[in-house]
Amino acid sequence: MKVFLPKETTMGETRVSMIPESVAKLANLGAEVEVEHGLGAAIQVADDAYAAAGGTIVTDREGAMRGADMVLRLRPPQNEDIALLKPGCVHVSYLEPFTNSDTVRKLAEKKVSAICMEMIPRTTIAQKMDALSSQANLAGYVSVLVACNEMKQIVPMMMTPAGTLPPARIFIIGAGVAGLQAIATAKRLGARVEAFDTRPVVQEQVESLGARFLKVDMGETGQTEGGYAKELTEAQLEKQRQAMAKACAQADVVITTAQVFGRKAPVIITADMVKGMKPGSLVVDMAVESGGNVEGSVLNEIVEIGGVRIIGFGNLAGRVPLHATLMYGSNLVNLVEHFWDAEAKAFNLDRDDEIIDGALVAFDGEIVNEMIKERMS
Ligand code: NAD
Repeated sequence: MKVFLPKETTMGETRVSMIPESVAKLANLGAEVEVEHGLGAAIQVADDAYAAAGGTIVTDREGAMRGADMVLRLRPPQNEDIALLKPGCVHVSYLEPFTNSDTVRKLAEKKVSAICMEMIPRTTIAQKMDALSSQANLAGYVSVLVACNEMKQIVPMMMTPAGTLPPARIFIIGAGVAGLQAIATAKRLGARVEAFDTRPVVQEQVESLGARFLKVDMGETGQTEGGYAKELTEAQLEKQRQAMAKACAQADVVITTAQVFGRKAPVIITADMVKGMKPGSLVVDMAVESGGNVEGSVLNEIVEIGGVRIIGFGNLAGRVPLHATLMYGSNLVNLVEHFWDAEAKAFNLDRDDEIIDGALVAFDGEIVNEMIKERMS
């Protein structure tokens, strides 16, 4: 089975699909791994390291794309790449399927079997393949560091002969994978941390990290069977905003991580709430790429409103690209390994398996994922 790892072509992307150790795992399975020349340049990993791991370095991107039985990459493929893929090729990558339906359609037209990393089900067995979680975890860590870099004060409490410095107050909205890692990182740095989430089940996890859980009575909230937050009604969001305003006014840093899978992120921090915050304080909008939790946040910019700076950096995991690649590549390898037929030395696209059933979005000329089909119609 020929597995091709093309270079990432998306502007500004610093992560790549895999580090050499992951290539070695694929080669050990018996896959013929072709690595595009310069794949690891963004993470300072040379071609030699991929070659030593068992990959064959190729310079003919088009030829390798044409001949591949499987393509493994990070970002969605461009149309020029899709045009080269052969029917039946298994293509695995992020696909941004809810905003990028054209790519899914084109993959289907080419009869490619497209596995979408965003659609890996949230089951215990699939956790090792869950790239949304692995990248969100790193992004949560980075969100705190990004804020610290911009702060005019330190985070921990310090009692010195020159005076006592109080700990920074960090308020984190959304305590999923990213939020919990942000809480843990802020606590490690010595901040006084408060957090809120609409899923009441996370209270215990927040408290076990040593943070305070802010309770807000919003009526019925909860989560879907897939573990994601349910979308709130406008009345519930308004109640939430009122409660958040007070916590934001006291905070030195607010980090928002609230997302609703497949939908636009809810606006939680309004412009009025930003006005109510202390001058010099910061907001990091981690949901900026999916619509934003903060009114006025701008992708890849720092916006100042009344002395409060709103940080809207995208691709936070890309700020730690080596570890982000290590984790994303492991997610890919775990997926390939899980469905590897050792005798045939090939990937077995088992459509009866619930992981494939959940993540396969195009197959044999059709778009096969119901959720995506529904959103396209
Ligand atoms: P996410 O990125 O979709 O959302 C981030 C957080 O924002 C979630 O905790 C969500 O509840 C919260 N949120 C949504 N709307 C909100 C609002 N209006 N106000 C405040 N918070 C709001 O979710 P996620 O972090 O990827 O994961 C959610 C859950 O799924 C977590 O409990 C996680 O442990 C679980 N999970 C399970 C698996 C698995 O079993 N394989 C994998 C990953 C995550």
